[in-house]
Amino acid sequence: MSLDIKVERVKASKIDSVDFDNLPFGHVFSDHMLECDYENGKWGLPKVVPYAALSLDPSAKIFHYGQSIFEGMKAYKDADEQVLLFRPLENCKRLNISAERLAIPAIPEEYFMEGLKKLLEVDSDWIPKKDGSSLYIRPFVMATGLGFHASPADKYKFLIATAPSGAYFAGKIKVLIEEKYARSANGGVGFAKAGGNYAGQFYPTQLAMDKGYNQVIWTDDNSHQYIEEAGAMNIFIRIDNTLITSPTSDRILDGITRKSIIQLAKDAGISVEERKISVGEVVEAARNNTLLEMFGTGTAAVISPIAGFGYQNIDYDLPELQESFASSLKKTITDIQTNKAPDPYGWRVQL
Ligand SMILES: *Cc1c(COP(=O)(O)O)cnc(C)c1O
Repeated sequence: MSLDIKVERVKASKIDSVDFDNLPFGHVFSDHMLECDYENGKWGLPKVVPYAALSLDPSAKIFHYGQSIFEGMKAYKDADEQVLLFRPLENCKRLNISAERLAIPAIPEEYFMEGLKKLLEVDSDWIPKKDGSSLYIRPFVMATGLGFHASPADKYKFLIATAPSGAYFAGKIKVLIEEKYARSANGGVGFAKAGGNYAGQFYPTQLAMDKGYNQVIWTDDNSHQYIEEAGAMNIFIRIDNTLITSPTSDRILDGITRKSIIQLAKDAGISVEERKISVGEVVEAARNNTLLEMFGTGTAAVISPIAGFGYQNIDYDLPELQESFASSLKKTITDIQTNKAPDPYGWRVQL
C-alpha cells in the first residue's frame, strides 16, 4: 500500500535563516506542509506543498462554529540521524476520535501516516539534532465549507504543519487549583482535541496568571472537588511513593504521554493508581508532608514538574527532591523516544 503523494517544493528554502541553536517552541515553521481536502463526500489525496497562508471564505464554518480539531506529536533524530516518531498511530486514532465528536469526516489512516512520512522526508533537514530539541508536528482539521447556517460543513481541510522546536518549558511551574471555571463537562468535548477547548481555557488561565500562577489545575465541573488536568496536560500526583492520576473520561483527554508514563512507572516498580483524587486529599498530603511531587504530562513538555499550588488563598510548596519520579521518568521516556535506550514496547517508529 503506497499512495501517490505529489510534492510541490518551495522555490527557495528558508532553512538558512533559522538559528537551530536558539529555537523557540512552535514559532518557526518548516518549508512545507501536508494538505488534504474533503469535498463531494470524500477526502482527496494528500499532497506536500509549500508552507503558506491560507485563503478562506469569510463564511467558512471554522470561523463561526469552531469546527476544528488538532493533534500534537514530535519527530526526533537519533545519533545516526535516523528519523523517529513516538506512537504515531495513537495520534492518528485520536484525531479520528476527535473528528467523530466534532462531526468531521474521518481521515483515512494511510493518508495521515503516509502523508506525514512523505512530509518528513521532504523536510528532514528541519528536524533538529540537538538534545532536547525536536520537530513539533501539528496535524489539524478545519471546516472550510461555506454558510452561516449552524450545521456541519460539507468541506474540510486537513493540514500537517511542522515547527523545529527547542524544549517547551523552562523550570518548574506554580499552579492554581480552579474552583469556579471548568475546561470540560460530562457529555462535552473535553476528551477531544477540539480547538474551542483551549479558547475556553485562556481566560481562567489569565486570571490565574494575574495572581502569580503559571497554570490552572482543572477540577471537575460539577463539584470542583476532584483534580482533573494540569492546563493542557494530564496530571500525576505522588503521595509517599504512590503515583496517582485521574482516570480518563468524557472530560479528561486520553494523553499518549500519560499512558506511556503509567506503563513506564509500573515497569519501574512504582505503584500507580488511576483513580479520582480529591483536592482535600492533596491538601491533606501537603499538610502532612506526604505530597512529594506533582507533574503534568503531554507531548510538548513531556513532563512538567510543579513546584507548588494555590488553593483557597493558601499556597502550598512541594519539596525539592534530589531524585524525583518526574526526572527519572522523563529520562526513561525521552531516551526511548530518541533511541538512547532500547524500546521493549514497540513505541518508537523509524521513518
Ligand atoms: C494534548 C493534551 C494532553 C496530552 O496528550 P499527549 O497525547 O500526551 O500529548 C493532555 N490534556 C489535554 C487537555 C490535551 O489537549
